[in-house]
Amino acid sequence: MDQNIKIIDLKLDNIEVLTTGTAAEFVNGILDFLLYQRRQIPFVYKTYKYYVDKWSDAEGSGETKDRESFAHYQLNQQRSKAKATKQSISDMRELIRQAFRTSEVKSLRFLFGNSTFMPSEAYTLHIPHDSISRDHFYEHHALPEFRINQALLRLLTCEELYTLFSTELNATNVFLEMELLTNAENAKGCHGDSVNLIPKDVMSQLPRSCKNIHLNLLHCSDNISTELQCCKDLAIYQDLGLLKLDKSEEDDSRTNDSLEATKESSCWWQAEIIVRGFRVPANQKSGCIWSS
Ligand SMILES: [Zn+2]
Repeated sequence: MDQNIKIIDLKLDNIEVLTTGTAAEFVNGILDFLLYQRRQIPFVYKTYKYYVDKWSDAEGSGETKDRESFAHYQLNQQRSKAKATKQSISDMRELIRQAFRTSEVKSLRFLFGNSTFMPSEAYTLHIPHDSISRDHFYEHHALPEFRINQALLRLLTCEELYTLFSTELNATNVFLEMELLTNAENAKGCHGDSVNLIPKDVMSQLPRSCKNIHLNLLHCSDNISTELQCCKDLAIYQDLGLLKLDKSEEDDSRTNDSLEATKESSCWWQAEIIVRGFRVPANQKSGCIWSS
């Protein structure tokens, strides 16, 4: 067995209904954790975004000074790099949300490294896709942020990750690959302009030197979400419910068969978006880039 493989269980406790939206927010929470803890960005995403957005506001209102100086030129260079990183993170987060909305995500993988062929670390997230309910609205079951952070605390106390993150890791690129369980129609939707995914014919192999970390997202709940009628009671579902009553048993079994066939086939996709890590160069005072 490869010594580089680490498996970490991440329990999503007491979450009554796991919606596609909640699952996507968890994945984005993990992405944020990895970006910050691995020092791809100097702050957690929320804070980082706050600073970057503040510069854009200042520029808009013409508050910038010293336009001619070299120091200012350098500062602007760094800030535009920081902005590009922020934008790519924001795009990747949106892509993840969209993928969960439109497809069944079986697993996804964040690759850290210069290229997808030579990553130094791979974080594979296994999604409890069978526990994800599509019959409930995310807004009705949205989790407060601290609940997501609570689940992510497990990662902070994980020795393997701690050891990895305490070594000096360079800012690098982050690639996203997703394994989707879809029928042909959904796949077409994913390939469209709205979600920028490139199909992968062959699953890329990880080099031996690559740290191979697997995060098992486990949904533990006392209630079975399919039995909860909360969202189905809403008007929008009433018509659908009536339609289902007319279905014969024969139809049902056929639907199940085709569903099974769909579930067996999954394919990997690579996101076009690449997040480039941002660090203030050592020869520059890190304070001045963030203060306006
Ligand atoms: Zn509901």
